[in-house]
Amino acid sequence: MKTGFIGLGRMGSAMAANLLKHGHEVTVFNRSPERRRALLELGAHEAMTVADACRGDTVITMLADDPAVAEVVLADDGVVGKLPMGAIHISMSTISIALSKALAQAHAASGQGFVAAPVFGRPEMAAAAGLFIVAAGAPAALEACQPLFAAMGQKTLPIGTDPAAANLVKLSGNFLLAAAIEALGEAIALVGKAGVNRQSYVDLLTSTIFPAPAYGTYGGLIAEGRFEPAAFTASLGYKDIRLTLAAADSLRVPMPLGGLLHHRFLRLLAQGGEHLDWAAIGGLAAQDAGATESPRQTAGS
Ligand code: NAP
Repeated sequence: MKTGFIGLGRMGSAMAANLLKHGHEVTVFNRSPERRRALLELGAHEAMTVADACRGDTVITMLADDPAVAEVVLADDGVVGKLPMGAIHISMSTISIALSKALAQAHAASGQGFVAAPVFGRPEMAAAAGLFIVAAGAPAALEACQPLFAAMGQKTLPIGTDPAAANLVKLSGNFLLAAAIEALGEAIALVGKAGVNRQSYVDLLTSTIFPAPAYGTYGGLIAEGRFEPAAFTASLGYKDIRLTLAAADSLRVPMPLGGLLHHRFLRLLAQGGEHLDWAAIGGLAAQDAGATESPRQTAGS
């Protein structure tokens, strides 16, 4: 398929590379031009403007957050203004429910299709085309996007016709991941301070009562105190907890654990931890405990 790809960060660069490997014709745009170079070497066309990336059957956005997506999509020379009628915008960033609804309305008013397709999986899974893609939109649009999803992910999970539902499911998943990170951090601080080997403890958990990939990945990072380089930054994790709480607020769903996680992220960011992996909130409990076997890289250390 002929597609544009806007946003070549940690995730987008790996996803666009997989589209090229599967023979799709990809035109890439990134705000900082140097990030386009590696994709051009793989055979991508270069877009000098957002408009240049909007000339195909579809355009994918994989940008950081709501302000970035709003700027790229809703500005005068943005995706809504430049995408041909009948073409589809596939929004793969983790964004708010409110923005997803606004994008769906704007595209419908311009005769364009809109699919929300946020993903589970860190950059190494993106590089291995192993993402889980949660997709929602009109059935015909979802079907048209499937060859692209197949190139980027191991599984597409359709969630209905309302794009915002996919964004809500994604946010709820990140809330659960952050809760697991915080819980692991507290438990590992507890046993670690008593002298139990942290990694052996994580191995015990993941081979018995918690055989889940999230526990293995994040338990390992917390046990080692390895929070740099970030695969998913704490500032983006904080964004997702805030967006989850905004959704909870508008739906009138009390989420007390969400409030606690908001506080933990705020503490990490206040100590200069934006650039760390979001797993670093799992290192705070060891700091609070004054644990002697402290993580190697945590904010403020
Ligand atoms: P990232 O590495 O920080 O990349 C962010 C991208 O957004 C870059 O291309 C950046 O361009 C662009 N951008 C930021 N602000 C912009 C603006 N105002 N105008 C235009 N472009 C702008 O982020 P990422 O880790 O790839 O994450 C991308 C999205 O995927 C986020 O919504 C994130 O929550 C979600 N996600 C991430 C992961 C993960 O593990 N990393 C997993 C699942 C979902 P520049 O290069 O010019 O800065």
